[in-house]
Amino acid sequence: MSDFTARYLKDYRPSEFTINTIDLTFELDDHKTIVTSEMSVTKKSTTANKLTLDGEQLKLIAVFYNNQALAPSDYQLNDDSLTLSIIDCESTIKIITEIDPVNNTSLEGLFKSGGAFCTQCEAEGFRRITYYLDRPDVMARFTTKVIADKTLYPFLLSNGNKVSSGTLDGNFHYVTWEDPFPKPSYLFAVVAGDFDLLTDSYVTSSGRDVRLEIFVDKGNKDKAHHAMASLKHSMRWDEDTFGLEYDLDIYMIVAVDFFNMGAMENKGLNVFNSKFVLADKETATDTDYFNIEAVIAHEYFHNWTGNRVTCRDWFQLSLKEGLTVFRDQQFSADMHSAAVTRIQNVRVLRSQQFAEDAGPMSHPIRPEKVIEMNNFYTLTVYEKGAEVIRMLHTLVGQEQFKQGIDLYFKRFDGQAVTCEDFINAMADAASIDLTLFKRWYSQSGTPLLTVEENFDEQSKEYTLLVKQTNHPTKDQQVKAALHIPIAIELISECGTKAKLLELKSNSEQWHFNDFKTKPIVGFLAGFSAPVKVNFTQSNNDLATIMTKADDEFLRWDAGQKLYVDTIAKLIADENYQIPLQLIDILAVQLKSDSDLALIAEQFTLPNFHELVEQFKPVNPIVLLNAIEQLKTFIAQGLQDEFLAIYKKHADKIYQNHADAIGERAIKNMALSYLMTLSSYHDIAEQQYANSDNMTDSLASLNSAATNGIAAFDTMMASFEKRWSRTALVMDKWFSLQAAYKGNDVFERLTKLSQHPLFSLKNPNRARSLIGAFTHSNPRFFHCSTGKGYQFLADQICKLNDINPQIASRLITSLIQFKDFDKNRQELMKQQLVRISTLSSLSKDLKEKLDAALS
Ligand code: ZN
Repeated sequence: MSDFTARYLKDYRPSEFTINTIDLTFELDDHKTIVTSEMSVTKKSTTANKLTLDGEQLKLIAVFYNNQALAPSDYQLNDDSLTLSIIDCESTIKIITEIDPVNNTSLEGLFKSGGAFCTQCEAEGFRRITYYLDRPDVMARFTTKVIADKTLYPFLLSNGNKVSSGTLDGNFHYVTWEDPFPKPSYLFAVVAGDFDLLTDSYVTSSGRDVRLEIFVDKGNKDKAHHAMASLKHSMRWDEDTFGLEYDLDIYMIVAVDFFNMGAMENKGLNVFNSKFVLADKETATDTDYFNIEAVIAHEYFHNWTGNRVTCRDWFQLSLKEGLTVFRDQQFSADMHSAAVTRIQNVRVLRSQQFAEDAGPMSHPIRPEKVIEMNNFYTLTVYEKGAEVIRMLHTLVGQEQFKQGIDLYFKRFDGQAVTCEDFINAMADAASIDLTLFKRWYSQSGTPLLTVEENFDEQSKEYTLLVKQTNHPTKDQQVKAALHIPIAIELISECGTKAKLLELKSNSEQWHFNDFKTKPIVGFLAGFSAPVKVNFTQSNNDLATIMTKADDEFLRWDAGQKLYVDTIAKLIADENYQIPLQLIDILAVQLKSDSDLALIAEQFTLPNFHELVEQFKPVNPIVLLNAIEQLKTFIAQGLQDEFLAIYKKHADKIYQNHADAIGERAIKNMALSYLMTLSSYHDIAEQQYANSDNMTDSLASLNSAATNGIAAFDTMMASFEKRWSRTALVMDKWFSLQAAYKGNDVFERLTKLSQHPLFSLKNPNRARSLIGAFTHSNPRFFHCSTGKGYQFLADQICKLNDINPQIASRLITSLIQFKDFDKNRQELMKQQLVRISTLSSLSKDLKEKLDAALS
């Protein structure tokens, strides 16, 4: 029986003990791995006499206290802990446990992924390996000896530096690793397997030679070069930008197929979902390449923001994640188009984070109450957390921000600290008062800014009035005003002026006197704060911003606003005649000299999820019809232009550089419009047949799926035949099937879930079918019979026993039922109630169901 009790930030107490060193020995075996742990433990206060160690799903074999074997009556053993009496100030404790990696389908702790042993300890997985003080503020020096069969597992890896190795009787061998940096248990890792190894080296700015190693499944070495290049770029960028250098002699990355998340920053030994390592032009899209680089950077940047300075407790998760996401976003912006990178960050916030923040699991970026920590690796902690860091960066500027980072490391290197410690370092370095700003850490919900403007023709004074509203959220009824940096541009005949306003109370106004006629304001340049904006601007004003704003984000956002306004009208009246003026405005944009990737973004309509956020509660089918009407209208209005763009870029040979990526982006954007018109349906088939790269193949298949075109099945059959042995490509195949817009989709889903290559035990595969259906096929997920909800709930019930973390991720779209019409709310709730009656409900699901149904 799981323990469903909540833990609270306010109850944090330091441990009464420190663990100085831990020596681990792993005797790896499929079902009976023996883990021996020897710890040296110090009392922090003389009155401490009971040490309670965390442990779950372990078989305890033996315990020794100062080399004396203990009898069961000497300790207290529970489902989730082991309590020992501690007599001496300095003691040694030795614990032997047995674990079963093959049956560990939760993929937390030690498990087998493909043929390799592998660990995932964050947040609280180490307690599934041995009894320990499994909390981030307990930092010890780890030595790890790994013993395994030398034929099956030629590579035995752990954190730090290799200090010895040798062979043992019976075809076994061992390797011992020593990590010189004290670390919390969540950063521990062990990997054992047979891999192809790509090596390289990197000389740091102070001249340290670092060996770089990427381990991939046999046969995949050629697909690791992009990851290696990304790693080297990240190392250079962190030196150039923040003066941060790598600190060990070796940096290892292992790619595995079975992994719950993207990747993990274990000290010196990152473990990655193979999706974020492997790439070549035939199997990976331009987006995959971009994401691989970003995730490699993210984990690398954690070596400082996360590992050298870590979190005091898990409520502080955003200390490392918000900051590290901000760092990886800045890196991506420097490596590619800054505007396109920013637009993509904003789309994620608007389509997913805002919804989370308004739903039953709403929480501040520093949560105050947690039942299952794995439920808090959220868009809020990561993405909104990064926005909060970005606002600090906007307020103090890059120079001071860098000084704040310097001070943070000067004060806290080697320690486990809080979000407050970080902000204080920033405030001190930049000499600014961030007292009010700190509220972003404790307040949940997305602020709404309401904007009014006035121009006094007499005095020529322009006034901007901004009001913030912070609506109550499920977790928090009472809200206070936040400190919000608002970047604006004032566009007038005398040019464009940029200003940074700071809103610090419920409403404020600003006066500007330098205009002859009313200026047009571009509001929230660069998306300077994670807020919603309510500001009525005419189509003419928006069109002006689209061409005249200096900030490319503002130009893009004005276009998005035009789309949203049109969709609003179509929702209110399906016979609404969209004015042709829209086509004129868009035609100008299509011919602008912006880079092609940015134009492609400008023509990408806000997605379904983003629009749900705008119009909730909404009937999803009415919304989808409105989106399709708008898309078809634009396609008809600009079909000659789209066809010309398509033809211009159709037959180019694949190249992997920014211009070529932009050409593919705009070409596939044009394709997606043309495909809404039936007369162009064969283009997708031709493109599929002629494509020499995955970006183009996938774009053609996608448009075939989402427009339900006849050739879809033939194309998919050929794709399956070609790629049936390439797991990451088959994930795409399953996702395309799940996104297919045809009335037989439920029969298809049933067949797919019985497909020989489908397995709920593989998280990527589960996500590729179930996640893709719920996310990319809203028309059928939300079909009025409730069949879509039922399909999802059926899968969640199965995943509850196999992999609670994945089950808990997938339930997101059901718990946000309030976003839809009453009938659908009822249908979704029925499924939630059904799931809640499962006999062995996991903590992960229980926490979300209770929040949603209360
Ligand atoms: Zn991270």
